[in-house]
Parts: sequence; structure tokens; C-alpha cells
Amino acid sequence: MIDRIVQLLKSARYAMALTGAGISTESGIPDYRSKGTGLWEKVNPAEMASISYMLSNPKEFFEFNITQWSKYADAEPNVTHRVIAAMEKAGYLRGIITQNIDNLHYKAGSKNLFEVHGHLRTAHCMNCAKKYEFDELVNQFSKGINPPRCTCGGLIRPDVVLFGDPMSGDFYRALEQVQKCDLLIIAGSSLQVYPVAEIPLYCEKFIIINREPTPFDERAEVVIHDTAGKVFESIAEKLDIYY
Ligand SMILES: [Zn+2]
Repeated sequence: MIDRIVQLLKSARYAMALTGAGISTESGIPDYRSKGTGLWEKVNPAEMASISYMLSNPKEFFEFNITQWSKYADAEPNVTHRVIAAMEKAGYLRGIITQNIDNLHYKAGSKNLFEVHGHLRTAHCMNCAKKYEFDELVNQFSKGINPPRCTCGGLIRPDVVLFGDPMSGDFYRALEQVQKCDLLIIAGSSLQVYPVAEIPLYCEKFIIINREPTPFDERAEVVIHDTAGKVFESIAEKLDIYY
């Protein structure tokens, strides 16, 4: 199956990657949807990470989410992020679309990156739109200022797409790129969160690498139900690229 993936990559005109939470678990970031993390059992992320919850219960919203987000800030890219960045550098991938907000593709050096759910590098005031570093939220929170406030008194929120928010500019730019794409490698996404889950429909061929089955498995050229790290390590070896 690795040989088939390599063959598809070599003959692709315009290949891209689409990644989800499953590729970051090897960096220690829990995937809400994977069994055994317990997160789904305790809370419903669709509610806890929603715009309505942030506005109605800002204190509780930041208490829950800052703890989660701080884990991301300390995480390092793993083999999957590094191989994907090396594949882009070597010309095998034209771009990377990710559902993850954890900065790990960015840290690994991916260039043509579409973070469709935003990222945890920056934040802004909901009242005056003043821009902040994401660290401002963490610093205020650690000093006991909750919810974090702008100098104008407005609420500072991170530049991530919460449930109930409109999709990001990156999402629409990613859709434009995907129209040109003839091969999409989907890794670590169960393809259940819309509208991102519709992206494969725009692409001629796709490959799925995910631990659990996805609704698109039957239509994929290759399906591998395994941890992404092992698979990308083998791909890098066969493509003879250094990462
Ligand atoms: Zn402000």
C-alpha cells in the first residue's frame, strides 16, 4: 500500500494533504474523537468550544479551554508533521490543509498552509479588534484575570474558529486550491466535521490514513487504518527524502 501511495504521489500533477487531530496525538495532544481519552465522556467540545458558551459563560469557557490550549503550546511536531513539511519542500505536496489549531505544521516548517479552524498564535479584542499574541491570554489567566480583557475592557479571544463561528478565510482559500488538486492525502481525520469533511469531494483521487474507518473509505484509492507516524516514515523512506 505504501508503494501504491508513492506511485500516486509521483504521478500526481497537484497533490495536497488534509490533516486532522489524529496526526497530533503522537505529539501528546488528545483527539476529542478518539476512544479512551475520556474527553467525549466528560464534556461535549462542540458546546465547551462554542461562541455561545464563550459569550454566556466567559469565565468557565476560558478556564476549560486555556488548560487545553496550553498543552498545544508546549507540544512539538512529530514525524508526520516533519515528513509532510519535507514532502512539500521536495515538491511532492503543493499545500497542506489542516483542521488542527495546534501550530504543529507551522512549527515543522510547512509553507503553503491553510489552517481552516484558525490557530493559537494570535488573538484579538472582540470590542476594538486590537491584535494580541496568544500568550497574552495565557499570561492574564495565570495572573488570575479571567476572562482576559483588552485595555478597552473588551473580551480578548484567540484567532480560532469556535463552533458557531463563520468559517475562516483560510477555509475558502483552501477550497480554491483543492479545485486544482488531483491527489489529496488525508491523514488523521475521521472526516466528520463539516464543512471540512466535504473537501475530498472536490478532489479527483484521495488516500486515507486514519486509525478509525471514515465515511469516505470506499471511495479512496488507498485506505490505511493505522497510526500516521509509521505510514509517513515509510513514505519518506520510499521517496528518499530527508526530514
Ligand atoms: Zn479592545
